[in-house]
Amino acid sequence: MRDTTKHQGLRNQLATVLNKKGIVDEKVLNAVRKIPRHLFIDSSFEDHAYQDKAFPIAANQTISHPYTVAFQSQVLEIKEDEKVLEIGTGSGYQTAVLLELKAEVYTIERQHELFKRTSLFLPKIGYKPKRFIFGDGYKGLPEQAPFDKIIVTAGAPFIPKPLLGQLKVGGKLLIPVGEGTQIMTLLIRKSLKEFEKHELGDFKFVPMLKKKN
Ligand code: SAH
Repeated sequence: MRDTTKHQGLRNQLATVLNKKGIVDEKVLNAVRKIPRHLFIDSSFEDHAYQDKAFPIAANQTISHPYTVAFQSQVLEIKEDEKVLEIGTGSGYQTAVLLELKAEVYTIERQHELFKRTSLFLPKIGYKPKRFIFGDGYKGLPEQAPFDKIIVTAGAPFIPKPLLGQLKVGGKLLIPVGEGTQIMTLLIRKSLKEFEKHELGDFKFVPMLKKKN
């Protein structure tokens, strides 16, 4: 596992590309400049690690586009020590960004292979979420609720009710909703019963699936 000045140079360029695409949060851009994304993907794709591309990882899943990760991170406006639930650990790249933003992260993955692999890999390169959970993100994590922020990184056919219920008042749920293409949807909890909804454009994610695998 090597990280070189060449990789650092490529990361700086990627941050510039993301900035031109509309990512202006310096903390998010600094996370992109810092995290060795090439270590999160198969070494045969290493040359592409710092282009704004999605890639296959284990278990037929993908690591999201850097732009998508940066966009979701920027929208959530993560602050230090906020309690964040992530649905869809995958490669752990988004998890690493949340940790660079100093969140307290709980991350759920339904594919056992990915859960195992990423829960070993991330701590090895210095990224330590509060908990890795092998489970079904549709249910959220009631025993640790409420959360300041919930981020879903798979395409959800609908907004799971339990996730809304596990938000603090003032908290935010960011979830791509739809089949095929998804609309990035931000829900802000205004009170116990009221949510404000914002639609933030089209994205493409792998589908959020039910049950563990
Ligand atoms: N943030 C990840 C994105 C991975 S793709 C990254 O940047 O690498 C989406 C991930 O969501 C996949 O790993 C998939 O297995 C997982 N997933 C799909 N349905 C899920 C569910 N119901 N609960 C938890 N994880 C789920």
